[in-house]
Formats: sequence, structure tokens, C-alpha cells
Amino acid sequence: MGASESLHSRPLIGRLAPSPTGVLHLGNARSFLLAWLSIRSRGGQLGLRIEDIDGPRVRSGAIESTIEDLQWLGLDWDGEVQIQSDQRTRHQQVLDTLTAAGLAYPCVCTRSEVEEAATAPHESIGVDAPVYPGSCRGRWSSEQQATEETGRDCAIRLAVSEDAIAFEDRFAGRCEGRIHGDFVIRKRDGTPAYQLAVVVDDLDSGVTEVLRADDLLPSTPRQMLIYRHLGAESPDYIHVPLVVGPDGRRLAKRHGDTSLAHYRREGVSPEAIIGALAHGSGWVEEGSRCRPEDLLARFDLSSLPTEPMVWSDDLV
Ligand SMILES: [Zn+2]
Repeated sequence: MGASESLHSRPLIGRLAPSPTGVLHLGNARSFLLAWLSIRSRGGQLGLRIEDIDGPRVRSGAIESTIEDLQWLGLDWDGEVQIQSDQRTRHQQVLDTLTAAGLAYPCVCTRSEVEEAATAPHESIGVDAPVYPGSCRGRWSSEQQATEETGRDCAIRLAVSEDAIAFEDRFAGRCEGRIHGDFVIRKRDGTPAYQLAVVVDDLDSGVTEVLRADDLLPSTPRQMLIYRHLGAESPDYIHVPLVVGPDGRRLAKRHGDTSLAHYRREGVSPEAIIGALAHGSGWVEEGSRCRPEDLLARFDLSSLPTEPMVWSDDLV
């Protein structure tokens, strides 16, 4: 039982949050299966949100094929599908609130200016490196003023006073992550940063449990800080290991096509995919065929291997 559960109970609400990059691959499938099982095995609610504001332009039909892939796997969700880009007005409203409260501020610096001013050596932190030295903090009273005086578009940065945030991850255990300075919560092109959008959307949906792959572990302290600035409680975090190829490297194009669409075309059944993922989690024999609901009684986070799952096509 997590620390927050023992203090007070809140409703169990999770979410699946795919980016519609066009194809779901096996790594995504495993995280979504685990997120689904964690919520469904305890009778909670599960939403589906398509995170379409960050990254490359979403190609037409990508949202539909992402939804189709999840349905093919046998995963379901409650309520309407939410589309992140529909919440732009709400994201801006939160940005305005944070700025008005002095918790965020406009920044006109370009990336190369930040790189020049940052204290060397640059430390790679997996999120928005290098560290911003705070040049624009307290410089303007409003975004409008900053734009008028400099003739530049502004990013919005969160004002950070903490060096690090410690938290208890329900799978990864005790974690402490560095914040690394005032970070961007709205980009110069006006798009909300992933860190802000994910927090606002989860908060608005009442999400209390976030299960995702551990490549997002380094950005978790930043998200927790946004919750804190909004006067809200963070969800429980469960960061699970990634799926890797036989060479131990993160599953990617070099390992061949591991998209669900590919296996579907090859005539592989969703039961074979789910069975292979369940075998990799230590719940069923190799070669098992199953549906997600067959695993509800076996789902156990504590038995999940702490090492990345190694994928090979022999598994299906
Ligand atoms: Zn700046």
C-alpha cells in the first residue's frame, strides 16, 4: 500500500495516454497493458487521452489508428476519448494563473543564448538540458511588455526554488530527481510544454495513478512541482522498465518493425502479443495466448522484473 493510500483514500483513476505518432509498438503496448491491469484489477476508472500537442505534426488518421491498435489488443477505457489539443484554452488559463501569481514568467532567450549563459559543463538530464540561468526572471511584469521591449516571442518558464524533489515511486521505490532550474512550461511558439499539459489534463480528469515507462522518470519531479504550484496533490507514480531489443538497447527501428500494425499484417493474434508481454512479466508460460482480462487475477506489480523486458520476434 502506497503512502498516500494509507493517509486517506481517493478514487482510483488512471489513464492511457498515447502519442499518435502513427504506430503503437510493443513497448507502448506493454506500458498500456500494465496501466490497464493496475487499474482494472482494483476496480478503478481508466481514461484515454491522445497526447497530440507535443512532437512532430500528427498525420491524418493517426489518432484513429492509435485507438484501433488499443482496441485490437483488447484494452478498453471509460468515457469519451480526450484529445489533448482540445484543451489549449484551459492550458493557457493555467499558464495565466501561474504567471499572475508570480510562479511563472516570460522568457525571451533563444536556445543558443541559454546554452552560452548556462554554467558549464552541461549535464545531460534527459529533460530540456542545458540548465537555464534565470536571466529573464523578474525582468518584465507581463508577456506583452517583454514582447514590446524586445520584439521577440516569449516562452513561459516556471520559477523554481527547489534543487530536487524526492518521492516514492510504487515500482521504482524511493526516487530523488533534480529540477535543474527554471524550466519551460510554454514554448515560444505558444504551444504548452508536455510537462504542463500532462499535469493539467491529469488534474482535470481527477487522475490519481500514473503508470508509464521509466524513460519519463527524470521529468517526474518537474511535473510534481507544477502540481505543487497549482496547490494540488500529485498522482501516485508507477514507472516500469522499458522494452529492449536482444542487444539490450531500447526497442527502436534498428530492431526491425515492432509496430502492432506490422504483427497484425503478419497474422499474429493479439492473444499472442498479450501472452508474450505477460510471459515477459513472469505471469504465464512462454507461448501462452491470452486476453488482458485473463491476467486480472495474476497481475502483481511486486512480481514484475525490475530489469527491462527483452523482446524478440520468436516470442510470438
Ligand atoms: Zn530568458
